[in-house]
Amino acid sequence: MTAPMEGRADEHAGGGLDGRGAAAWIRRAAELVSADAERLTRLDAAIGDGDHGHNLHRGFTAAVAALPDDEQLGETRPGKVLITAGRAIVSKTGGASGPLYGTALRRAGKALGDASEADAAAVGAALKAALEGVQELGQANEGDKTMIDALAPAAAAFAAALADGADLAGSARAAADAADAGAAATVPMQARKGRASYLGPRSAGHLDPGASSTALVLRALADVTGRE
Ligand code: ADP
Ligand code: MG
Repeated sequence: MTAPMEGRADEHAGGGLDGRGAAAWIRRAAELVSADAERLTRLDAAIGDGDHGHNLHRGFTAAVAALPDDEQLGETRPGKVLITAGRAIVSKTGGASGPLYGTALRRAGKALGDASEADAAAVGAALKAALEGVQELGQANEGDKTMIDALAPAAAAFAAALADGADLAGSARAAADAADAGAAATVPMQARKGRASYLGPRSAGHLDPGASSTALVLRALADVTGRE
């Protein structure tokens, strides 16, 4: 007698990310960022100027407002959705994080190109492009206590999960988990980039606000790709 087969995540052919999926990602990111805005601002008050939650709430609210309406979304490519969101964030978000998040989304959108649906490999390439864009603009490396400490391990974990046979939802979950761990690992670090670096050794012992918000944005991707 054979044991009943256990359901495995990789047996479900994961769907790709279309225009509606990309918009759902931005909306979910806006929800998570807004729900946590006070916490993000408190984190920034400890090692920065106490505006990170406010900045991102404003930016992602503008990104949601800039999305095509539901009817148009059916015809809109996911790359275009991310580029639109990135532009809105750059124009509405103060602080260092506006241009950094805007660049991340625009680069991710550009990487998706004209495809009407992005498969897991394309989303992985988009995360890598986002990381490269943020590093080009901000010149931060892993260990500098910035959003890179969440984004870099997330992009790597996504690629590793995909190579192991995970679908889009599974790869996105791996990325979100890695981003959470990466953000948590910023606590003992001394900031070498951004406003927190002005504090020198006193920046150690605090969670980096940008790494923390980056983990929320990746959790949002896992949430929407994990929905059936
Ligand atoms: P500001 O520091 O201008 O007030 P925010 O408070 O909105 O901007 O964002 C602060 C976050 O931006 C930091 O916690 C850090 O994660 C991120 N950050 C700052 N400088 C850089 C950089 N050069 N590269 C990557 N991320 C950075
Ligand atoms: Mg700030």
